Amino acid sequence: MAERFEAAYLQLLRSGELKRRVAEAYSRLEACDICARECDVNRRESAEGAGCHTGERAVVSSAGPHFGEEDPLVGRSGSGTIFFSWCNLQCQFCQNAEISQLGYGQEVEPEDLARMMLELQEQGCHNINFVSPSHVAPQILAGLLIAAQAGLRLPLVYNTGGYDSLKTLALLDGVVDIYMPDMKYADASVAQRFSKISSYPAVNQAAVKEMHRQVGDLTTDERGVAQRGLLVRHLVLPDDLAGTAEIVRFLRDEISPDTYINVMAQYRPCHRAHELPPLDRRPTNKEYAEAVRLADDAGLRLDQRRPQPVWAWR
Ligand code: SF4
Repeated sequence: MAERFEAAYLQLLRSGELKRRVAEAYSRLEACDICARECDVNRRESAEGAGCHTGERAVVSSAGPHFGEEDPLVGRSGSGTIFFSWCNLQCQFCQNAEISQLGYGQEVEPEDLARMMLELQEQGCHNINFVSPSHVAPQILAGLLIAAQAGLRLPLVYNTGGYDSLKTLALLDGVVDIYMPDMKYADASVAQRFSKISSYPAVNQAAVKEMHRQVGDLTTDERGVAQRGLLVRHLVLPDDLAGTAEIVRFLRDEISPDTYINVMAQYRPCHRAHELPPLDRRPTNKEYAEAVRLADDAGLRLDQRRPQPVWAWR
């Protein structure tokens, strides 16, 4: 008989370790190194100097069942997304800049976050999907502790831009079931130009390795709904700015040939992209097809719900 699935954090709840992780995470807000930017500011006093513009309270832009995510997350009943405002990256082509760079949303307490999680569970969602969580990991842990004590049982999805510190990932070990990091770039100068952070590729690759060490390849239940594992998102950019060949080589050789990857076609110029050619255009069908071919040739598990781009034959 198949083993009954239990969300990872429940064991840490029973042992008292989850409570200890909350305390450790909050203490790190006082000289913040929660993400790999390591701003070293006291977020318990204010958000001044914080690269993510976020103080002691997380800011949430929306929460609800979402059906636009990958099939293993959506299943029949949707993924229970909680979208955090602000971000630890400054991507010049961000498609949600009002939320990620202007901070539209509401400040919340951990009790509010817990209520959102429990409501999403009541609505039948398959998981709790934290979108842009890297700068608010302590607040997520605090909300989770309250929610788990009140009956939360769903697996957690850490839906991150991929600029995550190993120290914070250690706090999430045994807490997060499904890591869903972006792999945006493979080249430091491209990362500097378009996200203002040259260390992105090195930090991102180290983070993905640690995520995979914690949760392994993606596993699903008999309905095809994700239970645990790594799911990588890779957005194809014009002129191969995303470095697809290097990303898929890294995943095949240094993570696992069974890595689940969504090669995403939905890039369109947003925010400041119009001033930054070649980001001022969508990738061509040929560019997208080439990225998919590279991932396929590497033997990776391709997300099956790939859109068929028809907009820009060149
Ligand atoms: S979480 Fe925010 S304040 Fe902390 S290191 Fe990252 S960007 Fe800086």
